[in-house]
Amino acid sequence: METTAAAEVTDICRDLLRIDTTNTGDADTTVGERVAAEYVAAKLDEVGITYEIHESAPTRANLIARIPGADRSRGALLVHGHLDVVPADASEWSVPPFAGEEKDGFLWGRGAIDMKDFDAMMLAVVRDWQRTGYVPPRDIVIAYTADEEAGMQFGSQFLVEKHRDLLEGCTEAIGEVGGYSYTVNENLRLYLVQTAEKGLDWLKLHATGRPGHGSFIHDDNAVTDLAEAVAAVGRHRFPIVITPTVRRFLEEVSDALGIELDPDDPELAVSKLGPIANLIGATIRNTANPTRLDAGYKDNVIPGRASATIDCRTLPGQAESFLAELREIIGPDIEIEHKHQQPAVETEFGGALVDAMGAALRAEDPGARTVPYLMSGGTDAKAFATLGINCFGFAPLRLPPELNFAALFHGIDERVPVEGLEFGVRVLDRLLRNS
Ligand SMILES: [Zn+2]
Repeated sequence: METTAAAEVTDICRDLLRIDTTNTGDADTTVGERVAAEYVAAKLDEVGITYEIHESAPTRANLIARIPGADRSRGALLVHGHLDVVPADASEWSVPPFAGEEKDGFLWGRGAIDMKDFDAMMLAVVRDWQRTGYVPPRDIVIAYTADEEAGMQFGSQFLVEKHRDLLEGCTEAIGEVGGYSYTVNENLRLYLVQTAEKGLDWLKLHATGRPGHGSFIHDDNAVTDLAEAVAAVGRHRFPIVITPTVRRFLEEVSDALGIELDPDDPELAVSKLGPIANLIGATIRNTANPTRLDAGYKDNVIPGRASATIDCRTLPGQAESFLAELREIIGPDIEIEHKHQQPAVETEFGGALVDAMGAALRAEDPGARTVPYLMSGGTDAKAFATLGINCFGFAPLRLPPELNFAALFHGIDERVPVEGLEFGVRVLDRLLRNS
């Protein structure tokens, strides 16, 4: 019997879910990326696709393969997925998180939607091509990365810095997080294509004062100064800024739903969106959330220094004005230390590849309509975009209307519908054949 991509995608996804690739952000407790990369390698070996595996550190494996296209003068399309997953606490789950169980029409496990589903689709599609002798219209580069879930340093960033040659000629990329459906009604499903990501700035605020005894009158206390700054930042609401992606999103959704969504009153517009309001709420303004505090070493000693971590997320083009605003909120005396920064990315929702996404979806779901969206988090796209690659989040999935998809990301009982997976692999195959 002929093996097709749709027939084996579920088995591949199940196998990947059974490989624990937990990325804790700590080298000693992060596991499995090498094992998963070797699994992918064996599947490529079976059909005769050549690849390279590069480790950024022991076990931090990244795999890249290039499928030569018919017209090698055209820019290549990068298709990428990360192999690592965030930790899962088995006691909170209704199934073991690394068993790859199938029940009620779903495959359950950590990584089922983030993003071993797409990892499996990529593999199933290129294996099918190789078996049948199919040659895509242009070069397709597939990349499996480590470390997406903890800063990308050992994964996509490493590839971009040390193995740029393997990404030579890539003009566009598809990866997470986008391409999934939001059901409006029986005849209409919106598929959100990610065309932009917010930037990230994990920074520390430091206040410096005069150290002293806790029993004295003291008017230069670093803890007090820091606490005031942190409270001011935490309570501040940054102004609404409508980026081109969000404007286009509101226009498209407004048209699709047949409701009036005023782009100039985006808060009201977003509140009308029901379940996807959560997804969109953080994409109309910069945010700054205090996440950690650090000061003092003894109950009766006033420390000379106090520090806080702020998780800041900025809209495309807003990094500088955001910092100016932050400085105004905290005043001139607090020091800012940038711990980890990643710029926002934004690409245009248009062109042949975007058209092909819509066509591939409609061929499998006549009620499909693509809309662009800006994501408040970040992905490997940030690293690949530094090479000038136009990055899209498009890991196609048709979801049952009642499923709270957003809650499954890094969530308990993460699962992917088997039918959605088979749908996804057919859409991906069509897209890549027409890219
Ligand atoms: Zn992910």
